[in-house]
Amino acid sequence: MKKKQIKVIYKKYGLANCFPEDNIIEINEKLKYNKPLRDYIIKHELGHKLEFDLIYEFKDGISLIRKPHIALSLLHLCFTTPNIWCDLLPIQIRDKKIIYDLNLSLLYLMILSLIFIIIHFLF
Ligand SMILES: [Zn+2]
Repeated sequence: MKKKQIKVIYKKYGLANCFPEDNIIEINEKLKYNKPLRDYIIKHELGHKLEFDLIYEFKDGISLIRKPHIALSLLHLCFTTPNIWCDLLPIQIRDKKIIYDLNLSLLYLMILSLIFIIIHFLF
């Protein structure tokens, strides 16, 4: 079986996105000069095809505890590159296309429901 060729594209906004159907991984252009973090993020994005996203996200996030240099590098990037945070929006417009993240939308819905339940029982 032939291995699929994955194309890495640098972009101005957001941290990283994977489009398995097009064999494309988009990552922030600032990662061009940070090989350890870039490799970690590309590996993370490649892993997305194997597991359900939300669980994978938590597992991989927890695994960062064992890689403090990567975690610090990622934190530094997040706080020095504000446009990275736009990846936290469940709906984005890129190249005149609407990109919709179901997992992120579900996560926001869960958080909002939890806040609503807590407020409802407290007051
Ligand atoms: Zn991810």
